[in-house]
Amino acid sequence: MAQKFHVTTFGCQMNVHDSERMRGMLASLGYEEASERGEADLILFNTCSIRESADSRFIAHLGEAKRLKGEDPQRIVGVGGCWAQSVKEEVFERFPFVDVAFGPGQIHKLAEFLNSDSISAQGYFEFEDFSGHLPTRREREFQGWLQISQGCNCACSYCIVPSTRGREVSRDPGELIAEAEALAADGVREVTLLGQNVNSYGRDLPPAGRIGFSELLRRVDAIEGIDRIRYTSPHPKDMKEDVIRVHAELPALCEQIHLPLQSGSSAVLKRMRRTYDRERYMDRVALIREHVPDCAITTDIIVGFPGETERDFEETLEVAEEVGYDGAFTFLFSPRRETEAATMEGQLPHPVKVERLQRLVEVVQRRAAERAQRFVGRTMEVLVEGTSRTDETRLRGRTRHGKAVNFDGVAEAGELVGVEIESATSQTLGGVAVKPLASLL
Ligand code: SF4
Repeated sequence: MAQKFHVTTFGCQMNVHDSERMRGMLASLGYEEASERGEADLILFNTCSIRESADSRFIAHLGEAKRLKGEDPQRIVGVGGCWAQSVKEEVFERFPFVDVAFGPGQIHKLAEFLNSDSISAQGYFEFEDFSGHLPTRREREFQGWLQISQGCNCACSYCIVPSTRGREVSRDPGELIAEAEALAADGVREVTLLGQNVNSYGRDLPPAGRIGFSELLRRVDAIEGIDRIRYTSPHPKDMKEDVIRVHAELPALCEQIHLPLQSGSSAVLKRMRRTYDRERYMDRVALIREHVPDCAITTDIIVGFPGETERDFEETLEVAEEVGYDGAFTFLFSPRRETEAATMEGQLPHPVKVERLQRLVEVVQRRAAERAQRFVGRTMEVLVEGTSRTDETRLRGRTRHGKAVNFDGVAEAGELVGVEIESATSQTLGGVAVKPLASLL
């Protein structure tokens, strides 16, 4: 009888992608996926370490794995991802019931461990390979990830990623196009290009055959069957005009740009080592509005960075007010071990951070709701994802702007349909399917 595995994923889209690769690799080794952790012979965690809360949430889950291993010592417990990479061998000292640990660049080593007769715990922490080389098992057949690079050369003072994912390495463009063509042939209509810093893609490629991010987008756009292209995460310092222009030119490239701000204060951005200031950031926003007026802009913002004054925070509110984001991920500053910001002077009391976060969320949601009104009365192209999460009589999907839509109508997951938008809130749009896509074009 086939052995069963169960994967729990924490964190970012790169981890979601890596877990799809873990599933694909294990399926190719003859494992079956268990729906419950308790049914699994192999219990895996793909961890995140971007914030303290991520660590504590994962460690709570690990407790159940310990209990299950106690019930059946034959079970194998494995920990992958950024947290494992950040603590390395310490995993086994702190959690002796863990059998194997591996960093984001070592997922393939899990197969080696499973095929070995090793009786002792094994850790693999080199930055060796792209998980994008492994077989995959996609969460949705019609949506796929394309890992274009690994690692990050930036040195944001609060971030642990460079130490857990290594230096930036771009994948070979020919290999990427071949993989994107295979995804399209396999039914993927929407592909998301993934990297810690996608818009610095290609800089480390050998001169012969070196291309930049906008050229890569052009080549993916040219692939038959790819109807939508998204990417995450770009860095404002590398958001060059050629990348913004292709949003206006390429039919498949969606009208959505995620542009992490982090702070509206140039003084705070300097201490964050973000390498851009408020002016440069707003200049990028203006360029996006010039070339793609209807583009949705989303962002990431950290509140309560060490030394953030009330005036600094007001500058963040001003930018949020001025840009009018279509959506934002907002976070409390969380000191990460071995980062510069963790020991910086001016650490703020938690209640101050929470109070500021509430004020920011109010501005972001109000502006997002105002911005979303521009869709009411328009018929938008929606990629159907399935049944609505809030009303099983309705369907759910996303516009090219990345807006979630709950709507009445009959359609299959993976279909592109025209939806007339009747209502809009900061989070979702509401509407009714009006026509098959073809009549929209
Ligand atoms: S750009 Fe900065 S925040 Fe983003 S992964 Fe790199 S170091 Fe971390």
